[in-house]
Amino acid sequence: MKESAYSESAARLCSACGMCCNGVLFHGMAVQPKDSIRAMAAKGLKAKRRDGELQFLQPCPAHDGNCCRIYADRPQRCSEFACRQLQGVFNGEFLESAAMEKIQEAKRRSDRVRELLEMLGDDRKSRPLATRCAGVFTPPLDPSPQAEALREELRRAMSALEEMLAKDFRTGQAR
Ligand code: SF4
Ligand code: SF4
Repeated sequence: MKESAYSESAARLCSACGMCCNGVLFHGMAVQPKDSIRAMAAKGLKAKRRDGELQFLQPCPAHDGNCCRIYADRPQRCSEFACRQLQGVFNGEFLESAAMEKIQEAKRRSDRVRELLEMLGDDRKSRPLATRCAGVFTPPLDPSPQAEALREELRRAMSALEEMLAKDFRTGQAR
């Protein structure tokens, strides 16, 4: 695919998705030598040492309605990252329409996980989705049958989402 056509496809797909910015795919993105922590802090991005590296935390505060508010100045890793769907479109493995269907399905799955989290009393929207799920399974747990059933449904919903993220979105390339 030509670079210009790819850029247009990527813009349409990413603006319908946002999962590599909103805490669904990643907890954070590694700070790179070219990144200025101070300049990013002025734009609202927080950096923290985690898993042995300095990371900008996700969900990213610059992510706004599936757009990046600081696109021209975004961190290096953001400009380098292309998920499996973007790579497949770029390489001609599948069409943009097929990638869009995958994105819509992954969004349905992540929306269901969020709904279940809220039903279980977790409204920590500023935390990554996996962190929120882990919190819900951390004792003490509500022993009521209703909470037990919701936790079981959440376990299944998260597992279905993770399976799809691993197969269709993650690339082995860190964020
Ligand atoms: S996960 Fe892929 S399609 Fe979605 S916003 Fe990130 S790069 Fe774009
Ligand atoms: S800086 Fe922009 S591209 Fe990078 S994670 Fe935040 S919203 Fe996404």
